[in-house]
Amino acid sequence: MPSLSAAFFETTMTDPVQKILEGDVRAGARLMRDIDDGIPSSRDILKALYPHTGNAYIIGISGFPGVGKSTLVDQLIHAYRAEGKTLGVLAVDPTSPFSGGAILGDRVRMQRHGTDPGVFIRSVATRGHFGGLSRSTYSMIDVLDAMGKDIILVETVGVGQDEVDIVTTAHTTIITVIPGMGDDIQAIKAGILEVADIFVVNKADREGLKKTVNELQAMLDMHDGTESDGRWRPPIVATEALRNVGIPELLSRISAHKSFLLSRGRAGLTERMRKKALRELMDTLKETVFAGLMDALKATDALDAMVDDLVDKQTDPFTLCDEILKTTLPKLANLQKPL
Ligand code: GDP
Repeated sequence: MPSLSAAFFETTMTDPVQKILEGDVRAGARLMRDIDDGIPSSRDILKALYPHTGNAYIIGISGFPGVGKSTLVDQLIHAYRAEGKTLGVLAVDPTSPFSGGAILGDRVRMQRHGTDPGVFIRSVATRGHFGGLSRSTYSMIDVLDAMGKDIILVETVGVGQDEVDIVTTAHTTIITVIPGMGDDIQAIKAGILEVADIFVVNKADREGLKKTVNELQAMLDMHDGTESDGRWRPPIVATEALRNVGIPELLSRISAHKSFLLSRGRAGLTERMRKKALRELMDTLKETVFAGLMDALKATDALDAMVDDLVDKQTDPFTLCDEILKTTLPKLANLQKPL
């Protein structure tokens, strides 16, 4: 027997799903807004879209604010468009209080692609729910993928855990720094050296390029060994995004990395896709179960009473947690609600 959601989908969802699969921009934008707003029906559409994902090549671009990521993304869009590729672009900015594309107002340069039907640009700012930022980003990647975009660029601001998690599930992860970053490079090193596939030193017109490149080389020497042992050694590409210098080299490095992943089979591209699938499942599970439990608890007075007991030291959070899992979790038959 078809589940309720399947029946629901049959009668009401065929249209948006079909439209998104045909690449309809309005349908895609609408779904992304619904994902941002946590509208339950977006889940059904995402379910139907999921089998149609997995075709796009995902490129993550991360780095501190001001290093030139947006300028770089703008040039990448331009270069890939010249090759006839279609693109989806997600600008993930956890610090922004806005959602629904509002922050793109700041990304004026990218706006020049706003009227190009081959480019879909969207910002993601939701941090509202548990696991929300990365989970909604994964869903939006899936939407762009299902829309048939050849390449998805995911730009994340900063190098916090969430942002790192997002870019590391890309097929190719680009970490952007600028000359003279010294200490900041050390900070990046702690977080994401392990996961960088390509380093970009942008603002190559600035003083200190050589020193920064050397520092990165030295770090890679310590960490990676040499190319000859069959591993990918992240190349360092100097760019001047503002003047479109170094972009062809960056493109060729991305494509070399893609070939490398493809040549490695299960240890390459498949491994990246497995990583994303696992993260997406974990985030969805976390969010769904947590929100379901909270809804169930809030529907009764139980939560208030538990807080009273905690304050009176009648119990502790761990015991309560065990109790909640034992009593409330089995009751959550239909974990439909939030995204
Ligand atoms: P983001 O915060 O990392 O997205 O950085 P933006 O792309 O907004 O760039 C920050 C500033 O750096 C802007 O004023 C850009 O014009 C400037 N910028 C970008 N690329 C270059 C470059 O190659 N050289 C120089 N000198 N400035 C650049």
